[in-house]
Amino acid sequence: MNRAVSSVRTRHLGSFCTSSSSPASEAWDGRFRLHKPRGQHLLTNPRVLDAIVRHAALRPGDAVLEVGPGTGNLTARLLASPVESVAAVEIDPRMVEAVTARAAALDLAQKLTVIHGDAVETDFPEFNVCVANIPYGISSPLIAKLLFGTYQFRTATLLLQKEFAQRLVAVPGDSEYNRLAANVRMVADVKLLMDVSKRDFVPMPRVDSSLVEIRPRAVMPDVDLTEWLAFTRECFGQKNKTLGAIFKQKRKILDLCKRSQRTERCTGGATGRGIILGVLDDGNDEACGDDDSSDRAAVLSEEEVGAFKEKIAGAFESTELAAKRPSKMSNDELLRLLRLFNEQGIRFQ
Ligand code: SAH
Repeated sequence: MNRAVSSVRTRHLGSFCTSSSSPASEAWDGRFRLHKPRGQHLLTNPRVLDAIVRHAALRPGDAVLEVGPGTGNLTARLLASPVESVAAVEIDPRMVEAVTARAAALDLAQKLTVIHGDAVETDFPEFNVCVANIPYGISSPLIAKLLFGTYQFRTATLLLQKEFAQRLVAVPGDSEYNRLAANVRMVADVKLLMDVSKRDFVPMPRVDSSLVEIRPRAVMPDVDLTEWLAFTRECFGQKNKTLGAIFKQKRKILDLCKRSQRTERCTGGATGRGIILGVLDDGNDEACGDDDSSDRAAVLSEEEVGAFKEKIAGAFESTELAAKRPSKMSNDELLRLLRLFNEQGIRFQ
């Protein structure tokens, strides 16, 4: 059905300048209410939409994944590019209908698969490139899913909230440097491509945006990623404290001791989907020592705790790392400490 694209009412949309009656129009006709809590801010500036596709450097044969196509402003351009196919995951049935109609009106429906579902929960079809103006509320779990799930792709070109993008590209020593940046940097190179004004969206959001390229590393680091993610959670919970101080806290010692004992008992550790999706929450999570561990209530003897403290001291003894602060450390340094901990039998997952 073409209602979605044929009944476009003209509206003044800032720098928007193509004919609003064209089937490829970016204009928003107000045919239904846009929900801000769902991140429904449509990108309507054709120059920015073109630039996103240009930056994505799509190739013939690419299978593109788009998250949150909305009414299809970006989708239309992806479909018109030389790619093989586009799969778009959209949570709102009204948008599913709109983007489907948009592709039909452009006579490009054969290249498009629309998946109605929550992009955080739904399994993605095979893709080798991701291009999307995503709902900003799912930035962390989505990036975690892309990078720490089972997907293999060349690049993800994502429009993100500007502050989030800045945290993502931060380097050790920057005030924004955090767990998100450290974890993402471990498996990918991240590049800021361009800033996008909030005036380029309808309805206008409160925040500006930035386009970012995430390129997974060709060679992945030789580390158990679940262990790494659990380790950085501990370190970046209090990223400006010294590591020595962080790992001296009684609550943390008890928690880690129980975790290490549990990991010793169970082979494989906990590598559930929930862990992966939660690992990139990038706040300064002061309460992270309060992780729910199933055997939290287990009582440890004084000897056990004493022996465990010695293991921690043993890990630090051989290096100068105790005086360092996570917010200023490279991943190589953090990885070195994780290895020293692991050698002592201290486990984080
Ligand atoms: N990409 C479009 C629309 C961006 S608005 C454009 O640039 O114009 C964000 C879109 O993501 C909306 O269509 C919204 O319904 C959808 N969305 C929100 N949460 C989602 C989720 N969890 N999974 C998939 N889509 C989601």
